[in-house]
Amino acid sequence: MPTKENEKYDLVEGALAHCWIKETNPQNAYAKAEFFVSKSDWKITKVEEYPIEVNESNFLGKDLRTENYLKAKSDGLSIAYVGWSRDGKTTTGPFQLKQSFEFPISEYIDNQKKLSQRGRCLHYENGHRCNEIIKAHSIQKNQSLSAIAQNGHVYKISSEIGSLKKNKGRLTYKKYGVNKVSTFLGFCKKHDNELFEPIDNDLLKPTDQQVLLYSYRSLCRELFVSENALELTKNQLEKGITQEAIKNMLSGYVTGKSFGLENLKRHKSCYDKSLLNKSYSNIKYVIFQSSQKPVIAFSGLFYPDFDFLGRELQNLGDQTQDLQLITFCSTPMKNGWAYLFAWHKTSSKVCVDFMRSLATMIYNNKSSLSDHLFRLAMTNCENLAISPKWWEKLNKDIKEKIADRATSMADIFAVTEQSYLMEGLEGISDWEFENVITNMD
Ligand SMILES: [Zn+2]
Repeated sequence: MPTKENEKYDLVEGALAHCWIKETNPQNAYAKAEFFVSKSDWKITKVEEYPIEVNESNFLGKDLRTENYLKAKSDGLSIAYVGWSRDGKTTTGPFQLKQSFEFPISEYIDNQKKLSQRGRCLHYENGHRCNEIIKAHSIQKNQSLSAIAQNGHVYKISSEIGSLKKNKGRLTYKKYGVNKVSTFLGFCKKHDNELFEPIDNDLLKPTDQQVLLYSYRSLCRELFVSENALELTKNQLEKGITQEAIKNMLSGYVTGKSFGLENLKRHKSCYDKSLLNKSYSNIKYVIFQSSQKPVIAFSGLFYPDFDFLGRELQNLGDQTQDLQLITFCSTPMKNGWAYLFAWHKTSSKVCVDFMRSLATMIYNNKSSLSDHLFRLAMTNCENLAISPKWWEKLNKDIKEKIADRATSMADIFAVTEQSYLMEGLEGISDWEFENVITNMD
């Protein structure tokens, strides 16, 4: 049924929407179709048919359908409406619709920029002396970012809305100056220098203190970014969004993000306490050491939902439970680099199972450790820089596969598949790890 805002409201009593959606599974396709139909000012009263897989041969001899199929293939989706009139005498269509509401994208971007430039010190002893907020690197700069850079530049996911539009929603990688990568205004100069001295000016030995600091930095950066994202969306909602579908989507986002942020704050207070009391051994870690030259540098974290064997570890949708957290990053070591997983001991229940599943996967299936670690970084970390030398040598096909992986991670309509850490992006990294260091029980 058309809503009052629908441009066909006076003419049309109802319509059937035919949706062609480019997706990897029916749930995601349905979620997308539902959103885009609602966004075009319709109230969905009934679903005639749930998503089925189609290819071009399904539409042979049907020009309009083939056209829609091809449009979806290039743009991601195509929707055609066939309506019936209020007097019940005629049908109209297929037609496509203008929406009553245009999202104020430039206002949104301005606001986003303002928020990201609002510095604040996240140090556990922050206070009135934190007056000189600096651009702090969340990825180790001296030996990690600089080790992969070429003329001071690295590749990272493009943050420009324009390029997202141009590439039909697919994320792309773009070259940036090292100082534009991984920095955030999350510490004052004094605290940043003092606190991170053991990791900024020294290679990972590792000591518990160093690991705790790496993990803390990932956490603080995520907290900074999440607070901004949440405030941005809340501001937008407060300014008033007349379109129900968009309002619902943003409200859903706010609910999920608030829950994630509450959990981040709880984790940060555990880290704060451990740092304040110098109880560095509260950090648990697994380090994979490689003597090769690194080709990517990253720092991130996530709430492990499924493990490497596809088993559920915690239900991220259950807001009555506290979420357990793991951080991971690349670090420079004496003879090469390391892939470091770390967690506060209060998250050991989930994180130990998570790390054990990786060991089991490697041992039982003889699958490659480097594939698993590469896949995890590319899927769960947007704060990641790539060596231009390495990236520019990859063929187009592989670059697209990597971009698709990152896109699926950012897609709000996508349901995480239980097996998402089990397969994908095989044979790309060619990493070799000679050594594992851990203080896990
Ligand atoms: Zn400070």
